[in-house]
Amino acid sequence: MAVWNLGSINIDHVYRLDNLPRPGETLAARQHGRGIGGKGANQSLAAAKAGARTHHLGAVGADAGWLLEGLRSSGIETDAIHILPDTPTGHAIIMVDDAAENAIVIEAGANRALEPGWLEGALTPMRAGDTLLIQNETNLQAMAARLGRAAGARVIYSAAPFQLDALQEVLPHVSILALNEGEAQQLFAAIPGDLPVEQLLITRGAQGVELRDLRKGQTLRQPAFAVQPVDTTGAGDCFAGYFAAALDRGDDAAQALRLASAAAAIQVTRHGAGDAMPLLAEVQAFLA
Ligand code: ADP
Repeated sequence: MAVWNLGSINIDHVYRLDNLPRPGETLAARQHGRGIGGKGANQSLAAAKAGARTHHLGAVGADAGWLLEGLRSSGIETDAIHILPDTPTGHAIIMVDDAAENAIVIEAGANRALEPGWLEGALTPMRAGDTLLIQNETNLQAMAARLGRAAGARVIYSAAPFQLDALQEVLPHVSILALNEGEAQQLFAAIPGDLPVEQLLITRGAQGVELRDLRKGQTLRQPAFAVQPVDTTGAGDCFAGYFAAALDRGDDAAQALRLASAAAAIQVTRHGAGDAMPLLAEVQAFLA
């Protein structure tokens, strides 16, 4: 089996500052770092570290060889990443001050310039029983979900950042809709009635996670593991990547919730997002 992840790839520029700039102010950064980011890339990193055969689908500009190399060295298959020579790679400007407060600007670039003809070709090798992950930082989510469903794949939609129009188009083709607590509140406010999905996964940070089977009317709950978090950025992405990888290798839902919760608990004890995804062996040692 394999995990196919249609998702964003960003160059993250992280600037450390004494305080965040006010309107009209120019500040010198104390430190600058560059790394791989984007919800999609983070989820692929988690799935690959969990041991899944992970194909990332997405797009970058011509300047992103080091990003592709970074993804490959973490075990991600990058053949289905389209290089768009005239479009800039997506990027994020992340400012962090001494109080760990942040301000972030994202420019989607190539992430939202995906072409339907390319996607159709890229997803052709997907097989029944594979797992397709999608989020909201690219275009073509609905098309991918439809192709995934038609191929017999399990379609997991991590509907972040929350966008009602994207969600409504994608939902009819989704097996598992994954949301954090804030996104779930937005969803229930916007769509009060029945949801056309099989399962709803709601992560609640340190309060744990629940998986509702909407057809059977059953709910599985997994408490969060007690840890001292230092940086919760990317916790949901770690959870989503691990959860997809666990289901893909045949774990049942309860096992997948437990494995993904342990992975995310380790991830929040580390600084960073994609860089902080733990390896399967670390997660197994944590659970032993
Ligand atoms: P997001 O990052 O999308 O907002 P959450 O904050 O809900 O997602 O976190 C996703 C999962 O990560 C949680 O369900 C939980 O398993 C784990 N997690 C997050 N924060 C903590 C924490 N402080 N301690 C232990 N586990 C955590």
